[in-house]
Amino acid sequence: MFKKVKGFRDIFGDDIRYWHLIEDSFKKLFPTFGYEEIKLPILEKTELFVRGIGDTTDIVEKEMFTFKDRDGSYLSLRPEGTASVVRAFIENKLYEPPAIRKYYYYGPMFRRERPQKGRFRQFYQIGIEAFGSESPLLDAEIIFLLYKFLNDFDLKDFLRMEINSIGCPECRPKYRDKLIQYFKNNYEDLCEDCKRRLEKNPLRILDCKVESCKVIVKDAPIILDNLCDVCDNHFRKLKSYLNQFGVEYNVNPYIVRGLDYYVRTAFEMVTDKLGASSAVGAGGRYDGLIKELGGPDIPGIGFAIGVDRLVELIKMKNELKKDEVDIYIITFEEFTEVGINISNELRDAGFKVNLGYDLGSIKSEMKKANRLNSRYVLIIGEDEISSGKFTLKDMNSGEQFKINRDEIIKFLQEN
Ligand code: ATP
Ligand code: MG
Repeated sequence: MFKKVKGFRDIFGDDIRYWHLIEDSFKKLFPTFGYEEIKLPILEKTELFVRGIGDTTDIVEKEMFTFKDRDGSYLSLRPEGTASVVRAFIENKLYEPPAIRKYYYYGPMFRRERPQKGRFRQFYQIGIEAFGSESPLLDAEIIFLLYKFLNDFDLKDFLRMEINSIGCPECRPKYRDKLIQYFKNNYEDLCEDCKRRLEKNPLRILDCKVESCKVIVKDAPIILDNLCDVCDNHFRKLKSYLNQFGVEYNVNPYIVRGLDYYVRTAFEMVTDKLGASSAVGAGGRYDGLIKELGGPDIPGIGFAIGVDRLVELIKMKNELKKDEVDIYIITFEEFTEVGINISNELRDAGFKVNLGYDLGSIKSEMKKANRLNSRYVLIIGEDEISSGKFTLKDMNSGEQFKINRDEIIKFLQEN
């Protein structure tokens, strides 16, 4: 017997309704903010992620599914979407003519992490990216979009929006030096990962989940006290716009986001309901990335939502109604054509119809109809054909009655 690969999973049955709810929702909402869909490859050259995410990030250091292709080049299953959107933006010259460009994507991502609650090796993200403006108004609108999208699932008491500014190439290096100095003074008490991070990516220590590191981090200098005037101004305006949008948020100076190319705004929508997997959606501004990947110097900002985690939260909050079949049609062999015709008419009118394929006794057919959650069963037999009146059974009340063929649709529409 074949088994799934570790950390991968099948999604089916009751769960699918939650996925559809989410899929229907972003397809409606995102275009109202000016976003259009972009469909991207699942496989990219490894180098794209090394450059686009950064070789000191956990994702690139240890989480990618990478293999050598027949020609000797290295390919990776995409661990996230931003690098691919930026590649597509540059490769297809989507920056011409200049304008604000807004894209959303949806699909599976792959990371070789330790599987646990809310953490899988194949998971799904919905993401957006907007190119062409440095304005904090765009940052605020994007944060509002994430906030609104998630809260529209009635999750307000499960989620908090946390924001931060992580500075820019002007002010961050000075802050970084201060931070390195501070952590050097506490070197012995850092975890092994953080010792390694110290020179390469000290900001990541701020985000470490190990208790002993958290204690040290508590007294570390924070970036918000070390922003240059431009960043400080940007962050101040961002907060004011967020208030105007009606977003409730906390400022959290420990949100850093891994990437080198992130500047200024960083944000996360977090929950306490999923154990260590706390971020449901996260994003930030990455003004240097497009240039870094060989494109023009155009600013960008975006976020990604973890759909698997969002499904879990919605399930905790609301149980969605089970899928139903509107009508199950039992037809005796010689009247199959009548059954087919009626099923066609009903489906054209938008009803969910199941035909009984392997006719046994009426009793066994009723059982099958029940297992499919059928609201009604329609019986087409000798009596029905000769009288022109069909037998309809209401599966909830158990009531059974006769109805004219041309009244079936009207009846279902009204009941
Ligand atoms: P975490 O801190 O939980 O590892 P991350 O910072 O690696 O998250 P991002 O790269 O920002 O996550 O991805 C955006 C979103 O994708 C996350 O907020 C989360 O909801 C989801 N996500 C990331 N990794 C996984 C995973 N392995 N399984 C399920 N969802 C994930
Ligand atoms: Mg991660």
